[in-house]
Amino acid sequence: MTSYFDHAATSPMRDIARAAWLEASAALNPASQYASGRRSRSLLDAAREKVARLMGCEPIEVVFTSSGTEADNIGVFGQWRARTGGRGGRVVVSAIEHPAVAESARLAGEFGAEVEYLPVGPDGIVSDLSLLDRPASVASCMWANNETGAIQPIEQVVARAKETGTPVHVDAVQVVGKLPIDFQALGATTLAASAHKFGGPRGTGFLLARRSPAPAPVLVGGGQERGIRSGTVDTAGACALAVALEESCTEMAAESARLGGLKEQLRAGILGTIDDVVVHTPENSLPSHLYLSFPGAEADSLIMLLDSLGIEASAGSACHNGVNRASETLIAAGVDEKTARSTVRFTMGHTTTEEDVVTVLRTMPDVVKRARMAGMA
Ligand code: PLP
Repeated sequence: MTSYFDHAATSPMRDIARAAWLEASAALNPASQYASGRRSRSLLDAAREKVARLMGCEPIEVVFTSSGTEADNIGVFGQWRARTGGRGGRVVVSAIEHPAVAESARLAGEFGAEVEYLPVGPDGIVSDLSLLDRPASVASCMWANNETGAIQPIEQVVARAKETGTPVHVDAVQVVGKLPIDFQALGATTLAASAHKFGGPRGTGFLLARRSPAPAPVLVGGGQERGIRSGTVDTAGACALAVALEESCTEMAAESARLGGLKEQLRAGILGTIDDVVVHTPENSLPSHLYLSFPGAEADSLIMLLDSLGIEASAGSACHNGVNRASETLIAAGVDEKTARSTVRFTMGHTTTEEDVVTVLRTMPDVVKRARMAGMA
């Protein structure tokens, strides 16, 4: 039996999503004019309407994409390009963005954009918004961080940017299906989501994009999805995404309470049995995330030892070519490099049970002891 604690990386597909995908899997091109195309189109329209209802926006504002990454690229690079024509300008992003946003900003920088970073405090929460007081081509801030789960002051970011007429992109990939979202009320220009984080299929996502100002595309082609995302739309993927979203929104309140309880049990149990643990997840965080450091132990050792015992968790930071790198999110929050290299991120979701938590609590003291004995490189 495996205990899976990596829901922030990807969550197992919900049964309802699998059933919806299978049912719609024969759907053909929704842009075709003949009967089978029209049938596909009506399935796609229904999925779009469902997403719009759950996200508090108009159906036309829903742009289906291949991933959260693609939605973030359009939201940041596409908005910057729409504003600047692809040269110069200014891009403001937080210092703890996922690479899908951070690299989009960096790419705009290669085309002459001035890129500036909103700092974060020791709690991993954006701490100073004054960079937003000068107009920018686009500003971007994640709603909750994928490593720490820290919830960001997104309403303030949007309000502050609005004062100078700066369009705002919100990376809500970790939040959709976990916190209530009302796109209209939020006032952001674009918002990115990814289906596999809430029990939909991997390889599907969406961008919410106001009619105006619309982002420029990053893929060019047949002009589907208002010309914002060309490419034949995956009707079956959209149908599965929509029902997974619906189920996660329906369960949201109950799951929030359940996972919050499990998280507290995990946190208190680990802190009660293991010395010298650093908690990186602040109070104001998603109920699903618990990000810890065990100074003196290498993250790789911890992850491999856990894996050998059937517990699947991640270090939280990117692992490049097998080399454990310190998390940039933690470095931005002022954590020292060694502590930032001794992390384990436990993230929970719809399949997580109390038994999973008990399994971690039973094994963790010995795992940390062994990893600390092995030491750090
Ligand atoms: N943004 C955040 C905050 C994420 O956590 C992720 C995935 O880990 C992404 C964007 C990218 O989503 P996708 O895997 O669908 O490309």
